[in-house]
Amino acid sequence: MLSGFPPVLECRGVTAGYGGVQVLFGVDMRIQRGEVVALLGANGAGKTTFLRVLSGLEPAWDGGVWLNSQPLGNMAAFRRVTAGICQIVGGESIAEGLTVGEHLRLWASSLEGGASPEVLAELDEVFPRLAERRGQMASTLSGGEKQMLALSKALIVRPELLVIDEFSLGLAPIVVGELLPVIRRINERGSAVLMVEQSVNVALSVAHRAYLMEKGAIVYE
Ligand code: ATP
Repeated sequence: MLSGFPPVLECRGVTAGYGGVQVLFGVDMRIQRGEVVALLGANGAGKTTFLRVLSGLEPAWDGGVWLNSQPLGNMAAFRRVTAGICQIVGGESIAEGLTVGEHLRLWASSLEGGASPEVLAELDEVFPRLAERRGQMASTLSGGEKQMLALSKALIVRPELLVIDEFSLGLAPIVVGELLPVIRRINERGSAVLMVEQSVNVALSVAHRAYLMEKGAIVYE
């Protein structure tokens, strides 16, 4: 990790909630370029809410979020994608009614000139099972294949920060074992990664650092 550079992500004192119920109570976090960071915590601690605030899907009530030193403020979710935040949610980053190939083309269309032949060749190499299924409806993929497709988005888009919620939820350990090297690869390609993961073993087998969230605040780093 390159600690002399400004952090990819910096959060200070982030608070948020739903209606009148406060869920986040001043979250501080800093992720450097090159890092894979795990966010751990019990059910209901506020992890998903925090990721939604990062992606602009929930407004922060207070505090600040900076991406490469740029304050995100009230930036809309779709603009945060262009700014470099790509979020995938275990198995749910799939659109109904689109094939595997159409998903890949959709994500590539956000890049100037589309996905390069090198990137497409890399996808075939990393996920041969998806290469055989370009014409299949993505909604009919297995859980592991859906997660492969979701990770393909990060391989295509190469975000500044990849945010993954519930990485291993519902996946067999052998599938998780196949996918962890892909997270490392995405990280080595230049994306910092923040992953929420229920299994401490899974998280710590890939993460450089971890934060523990309890009752909407970071209690341990
Ligand atoms: P899990 O590991 O179970 O997914 P989490 O740490 O991701 O939990 P959140 O999903 O962020 O926790 O939930 C934090 C709190 O916010 C919980 O008490 C939850 O009931 C509440 N909450 C989440 N989403 C909403 C919503 N849309 N409206 C109202 N309350 C919500």
